[in-house]
Amino acid sequence: MEHSGNRQWFAMHVSHCGDTPWGRAVVSLECITERKRAEAFDLARRRVLELVARQQPLGIVATELVALIRERYGDAAYVALALQHSDLYHAHDADLTIEYVATLDAFTRTAVHAPPYASGINLEITTINAPEEMAPLPALYCWRSRLHLNPGSLPGVLTLGRRVMAYPDSDDLRFIELVNQLITIAVEQHERLHQLAFQAHYDPLTGLPNRVLFEDRLRQALEVAQRTRHKVAVLFIDLDRFKQINDTLGHNVGDLLLVQLARRFEGCVRASDTLARRGGDEFMLVLPEIVETSQVSQVASRLHEMLRMPFLVNGHELFLSASIGASVFPDDGEDADTLQRNADVAMYRAKTTLRNSFQFFDPNTNRMALERLQLESRLRRALERDELVLFYQPKVDRTGRLRGAEALIRWQHPKLGTILPSHFIPLAEELGLIVPIGEWCLREVSRQLREWQQKGLTLIPVAVNISAIQFAQPSFLPMVAATIASSGLDPALFELELTESTLFSDLELLLRQLHELRALGLALALDDFGTGYSSLAYLQRLPLTTLKVDRTFVARLDATAHNGSRGIVHAIVTLGRSLNLQLVAEGIETELQHRFLLDAGCDLFQGFLFGPPLPAARFESLLLQRDSSE
Ligand code: C2E
Ligand code: MG
Ligand code: MG
Repeated sequence: MEHSGNRQWFAMHVSHCGDTPWGRAVVSLECITERKRAEAFDLARRRVLELVARQQPLGIVATELVALIRERYGDAAYVALALQHSDLYHAHDADLTIEYVATLDAFTRTAVHAPPYASGINLEITTINAPEEMAPLPALYCWRSRLHLNPGSLPGVLTLGRRVMAYPDSDDLRFIELVNQLITIAVEQHERLHQLAFQAHYDPLTGLPNRVLFEDRLRQALEVAQRTRHKVAVLFIDLDRFKQINDTLGHNVGDLLLVQLARRFEGCVRASDTLARRGGDEFMLVLPEIVETSQVSQVASRLHEMLRMPFLVNGHELFLSASIGASVFPDDGEDADTLQRNADVAMYRAKTTLRNSFQFFDPNTNRMALERLQLESRLRRALERDELVLFYQPKVDRTGRLRGAEALIRWQHPKLGTILPSHFIPLAEELGLIVPIGEWCLREVSRQLREWQQKGLTLIPVAVNISAIQFAQPSFLPMVAATIASSGLDPALFELELTESTLFSDLELLLRQLHELRALGLALALDDFGTGYSSLAYLQRLPLTTLKVDRTFVARLDATAHNGSRGIVHAIVTLGRSLNLQLVAEGIETELQHRFLLDAGCDLFQGFLFGPPLPAARFESLLLQRDSSE
């Protein structure tokens, strides 16, 4: 028996009803089609959901659904599911010709990109005639539904080609609605997984592979090369002065520039090469299957060539240059890590020579030089990667009250841990990096002070160490003035700690600079006093506010031996007094030292005895404590 072409199920019940003229039993038939269908669908639904949960490909889920629909509509000669961003999945009777199936597929596909209606499903009923050679099958009666649960999202199109002409009843609509929900769940899950996979392997800005995918491809290339005895090259590309563009024109311009650059670079590598963005302004490239190393230099010069034309970003005409370093397997390393490290070192060598240059890794660079190079190349990027932090060390007055702080820089190296300034400040000075680093320190202190101010804490002066090289820059004074003005803070909250080496310059110029700084309202301290060669007469002419007794003298105060330290400290204090300077003693570790320095007449005291340099958050607790005790 047919009901709109669907299969029907019956249960036979036999009941005894005693002797009757017609026999001994009554047989009755019950239509259980609905129950059967509900069970079958429930089973299939669970199977589909399980496939989704097991993260099976969309195609497998779609095939399962097609089978389920065929199962329900026994007269359906053709069932197809077309999903957006995916293929079409169909099942059909054997007697349909290829051409006919193609026509039906095309009919299904045309709806895939049609805009959905407001919500739910919508169903069209169309007769699609079979080609003549297929007689006696005259036509299939097609229900085509565009499936979507949410307005604006169309998970797919379902076509049911039935041999029997039938209009969908409310059961059919409910069924299609359920299919719709299953598909939506499957498609959404698929898109989520797709997105996650993309995020894990691609750089969101440029769409290039990220470091993870790069390393994966590099390892694959190395495995192949081991078998084929080819070479593999790893190139590190670092843009010169990109930070300047970011800082002056803003990150937006910087980002657009990186995208344009990525497109240009992509244009000059082969499909088998992997160009990746390592982060910031760094790109990497793997060239598998290299025969001659000259091929590597050719690629490098093609990349440089790409930079000859300016970039147009938001109306700015920008020029870029890049330093490129390369290492080659197996000559410069057998594994991915070594090759990358050596390409990095080579890139750094390129940076120190000329801008826009290219260098191969040089295995003759000795270990020490190598370590230094690695430290250098990392230090260059430490600022951009936010690896620098300031610690704050308390200064207390004669009564033990917190009166000030000294900001001391630390480099949080991702592999080597915390690096103290004595290990990288001299290097930063040599590389000229001390200029941007020093600027950052002052900006960071003013940001930190403002943050504390906003939290309602009473502010104390913070001293910032200034390197002689930084001080000598013509941009130094305007930079200080601008930073302090834009902070909106009282300039007296800033103290600059200069070393004696700063003072060995043209006296007239120096005096002008120091007076200007004083005129801005800043305090000026002479750090590590006693270790240099400042003449007293010289010192007298400088508009300083503070003298810091060097910690080497303080350290020796404990010794009972006649080392002269006590005398020196007394002399420094006397000198300071006569010049009307505030006296700060640093490096105080013991009560004995403290006692002596108190008696000698120092004003402020700094050292582990009162507190080590602390991260900002921990220093903040000291400020809070001080505020609540007053
Ligand atoms: P400094 O300006 O004389 O700083 C005092 C140094 O003494 C700090 O070392 C501090 O941690 C250490 N110190 C403090 N109390 C004690 C103590 O009780 N005992 C001993 N043994 N040491 C103590 P740190 O932080 O390693 O800094 C070393 C030097 O690096 C500084 O000497 C300063 O010249 C330079 N420096 C630090 N931060 C910066 C910065 O932001 N810019 C520049 N240009 N130089 C910096
Ligand atoms: Mg200092
Ligand atoms: Mg010092």
